Amino acid sequence: MQAVTSQKTAILNSLIDKADVVSIVTHVHPDGDALGSGLAFKLYLEQVRRKTVFFWYEDNYSHGLDFLFTPSEAEYLDSLRKDDRKYRKALQNADLLICVDCSGLSRTGDIQKLFQGTKMPKVLIDHHLSPDADAFDLCFSETEISSASELCLQVLKSLPDIDGDTSKLPLRCLTALLTGITTDTNNFANSVFPSTLTAVSELMACGVDRDRVIEHVYNEYPEGRIRLIGHLMDKGLTITPEGVAYMVLTRKLLRKFQIEESDTQGIVNMPLAIKNVRMSILLREEFRQFRVSLRSKKGTSANRFAVDYFHGGGHENAAGGKLLIPRDIVFRAKAASYIEKSAKAFFEKEDSL
Ligand code: 5GP
Ligand code: MN
Repeated sequence: MQAVTSQKTAILNSLIDKADVVSIVTHVHPDGDALGSGLAFKLYLEQVRRKTVFFWYEDNYSHGLDFLFTPSEAEYLDSLRKDDRKYRKALQNADLLICVDCSGLSRTGDIQKLFQGTKMPKVLIDHHLSPDADAFDLCFSETEISSASELCLQVLKSLPDIDGDTSKLPLRCLTALLTGITTDTNNFANSVFPSTLTAVSELMACGVDRDRVIEHVYNEYPEGRIRLIGHLMDKGLTITPEGVAYMVLTRKLLRKFQIEESDTQGIVNMPLAIKNVRMSILLREEFRQFRVSLRSKKGTSANRFAVDYFHGGGHENAAGGKLLIPRDIVFRAKAASYIEKSAKAFFEKEDSL
């Protein structure tokens, strides 16, 4: 099914026309695609449609993405964060809700409660498997695409005032979209479609400085991240007989290398470079749970593993979830044996199919 049709575009356009205030939300622990797609829509709505927009997400993002926001936007978000009631009220009183880069509101964290039972029209723009379409009035959903940012570009271009002309969108909006495409494709290593390269070519032709995006996203990490990677690859990587590589990132390690959780994005991809590894799993310790990131090579479903063993999901080859204590394992040290058992059971089933 085509994700962007003239009928859907007409409905979106009329929803935007009728709204004075728009809330935009995205998934917890936002990455470049979550921030890029949300910010791009915000800038379009503010600068082209003259709407008031509240863009909200839970938790911090990697400092390499700071460049997306102007100092005054960052300051404003900080001030809202300090006044919980104020931002909740602002989000809840909007005339339209747009949810980007998540399969449903359940991935937005605590703020999902604000929208339950509200009458405001809800729009989803997403590229994950199994979108919660019933919960939305309008749904742009496509999995054969690099990112929510690429899909947002298609949606924005289809609106009458842009009319297919990418150059009519503000430059910061286009930079945000290129950032989302870059990070969700792991710098053009995965999920790259012909449409992705066409989109990027258009963005660059309109003046987006790709070198600057790359510099911020990939060359501004704290030193501790690189030293942590060295430590993990040397001492912290286990590979099961089925070819599942896993690493456990404790809070103690984050402290030792003086980095924040948001600086660990992408590390999970690295073990996939090993020939016999089919899937890579990174566990990050949190209070009474581990957050889990999974990546797999073609032919192995990270999504199914995340659904079956980690209460999660995502994409076929990039997924996430949680390992709950004491529901799944009685204490933290049991995480390794949980993964080893799950890997054995999962591949016994897979390989027998
Ligand atoms: P990451 O490992 O980068 O945090 O997430 C990889 C992919 O899995 C992302 O597309 C993300 O949206 C999805 N994902 C991460 N955590 C969860 C989760 O708890 N539930 C579901 N359904 N998807 C998740
Ligand atoms: Mn995404």
